[in-house]
Amino acid sequence: MRKAVFPGSFDPITLGHVDIINRAIPLFDEIVIAIGINADKKYMYSLEERIQFIKKTYARETKISVETYSGLTVDYCKKIKATFILRGLRNPADFEFEKAIAITNRKLSGIETVFLLTSAETSFISSSIVRDIIRNNGDASLLVPKGIL
Ligand code: ADP
Repeated sequence: MRKAVFPGSFDPITLGHVDIINRAIPLFDEIVIAIGINADKKYMYSLEERIQFIKKTYARETKISVETYSGLTVDYCKKIKATFILRGLRNPADFEFEKAIAITNRKLSGIETVFLLTSAETSFISSSIVRDIIRNNGDASLLVPKGIL
């Protein structure tokens, strides 16, 4: 049973996340989209809103569930018996950042991080760009799953 955790803030979920998740579905038996709770971080959308956006996007996908967690991602993985962490890579900056975290996580727990490269059409998308557009009353609907906002 291959169970993966896809951790992130998902503030909000974008078509970049969706691209990674959709391409990971055939690779795993179960994918838990895990929204990390960080008390020091300011979010645009509440936890409940972020959960609902993801639930709406994956209402019909039985392999996908949405959960929240606090603390170390590897501790959460152990708790729910997930043996993989899923992450997306957009560019070299993502790689450098993710590399240190993935190696640390493997040392701490033996959990493997699986990286998928974003597709060309969604590599430019980030939640922060989406938030900027929304804050300035622009139309972000081309960058997020249909009907969530
Ligand atoms: P975090 O705060 O942990 O970076 P995010 O919600 O921003 O959380 O991202 C979660 C994961 O989704 C990360 O692995 C990130 O690299 C990946 N991701 C975000 N946007 C894209 C995209 N456009 N293409 C591929 N991966 C992406």
